[in-house]
Amino acid sequence: MKAAVLEKIGQIKIKDVTKPVPESDEVLIKIKACGLCGTDVKLYKGEYTARIPVILGHEFSGEVVEVGKDVKNFRVGDKIAVDPNESCGVCEYCRDSRPTFCSNLSAYGVLRDGGFAEYCVIGEKGTYKIPDNLSFEESSFTEAVSCALHAIDRADIRLGESVIIIGGGIQGQILTQLCKLQGAEQIIMLTRSKEKQELAKRFGATFADIKTNKKTDIVIEAVGSPETVELAIQLTKRGGKVIIFGFTSEGKKANFLPFDVLYKELTIMGSWVNPYTFDRALKLLSSGKVDVKPLITKVLKLKNLMEGFELMTKKPKGFLKAIIKP
Ligand SMILES: [Zn+2]
Ligand SMILES: [Zn+2]
Repeated sequence: MKAAVLEKIGQIKIKDVTKPVPESDEVLIKIKACGLCGTDVKLYKGEYTARIPVILGHEFSGEVVEVGKDVKNFRVGDKIAVDPNESCGVCEYCRDSRPTFCSNLSAYGVLRDGGFAEYCVIGEKGTYKIPDNLSFEESSFTEAVSCALHAIDRADIRLGESVIIIGGGIQGQILTQLCKLQGAEQIIMLTRSKEKQELAKRFGATFADIKTNKKTDIVIEAVGSPETVELAIQLTKRGGKVIIFGFTSEGKKANFLPFDVLYKELTIMGSWVNPYTFDRALKLLSSGKVDVKPLITKVLKLKNLMEGFELMTKKPKGFLKAIIKP
């Protein structure tokens, strides 16, 4: 089968590899859609650690074409979305209901082969049926929505509170929709791009611009840079919460005044991937409460994957998401 293999930092090759065979508790899926994400770029550039060589791609959906003998809930022909974070179930964290901190976490497209390929084997645990009304393209967003949903769970927004979201990319746009659903009264979207500001307004942002002179109860940082983390701390009201959600590269430092945290009694928290949110994310997508269709800017064939990486790096006007259809 054809697959895009990260062979070393900065080098991806599209080549023929052996089609995988499912273990007894796994299904083999034909991949129908796989989103290209900022994390893929970080892995490609070596800013986050992958197992190399590895087939990248962790936001994917497909159709079951083979099932292992111990698989109970899936059969050939099922349409599925994949939760790429597979926990072991027996380590200290798993036994403390924190599966995404699993000491033996096996992440598809990072630590084991993922979705930029024609086929992939998935453990039954990470396999979710797609509701009939959802397309493969839309369901490839389930992982992204499930991560945003965890940030919203962490933020614990109360009805009527105000939120600033820094960053108008995919996650910023999904977070805007979720904050609205969660009853935030004022949602301020901070992004440079006019197109992204407009989209955020469509999704419920009350104000969208590059900066604001307001401070809010909650600030969600969805860019992943030290500067925006610093800004998030500045823009949070006394007693407020800062959610660090953007994927800052490993090793980068931010500057802030501990006095601010003290005097403002800030709660600063991280939001790491998607514990127990995948199913709810699918439901929100299926009901249409979260709309991801306007976020798809480009659909590419697997052989043109590098074009997608180029778009991700150059970020042309209004570009949000490329989806690969192997
Ligand atoms: Zn991702
Ligand atoms: Zn574990």
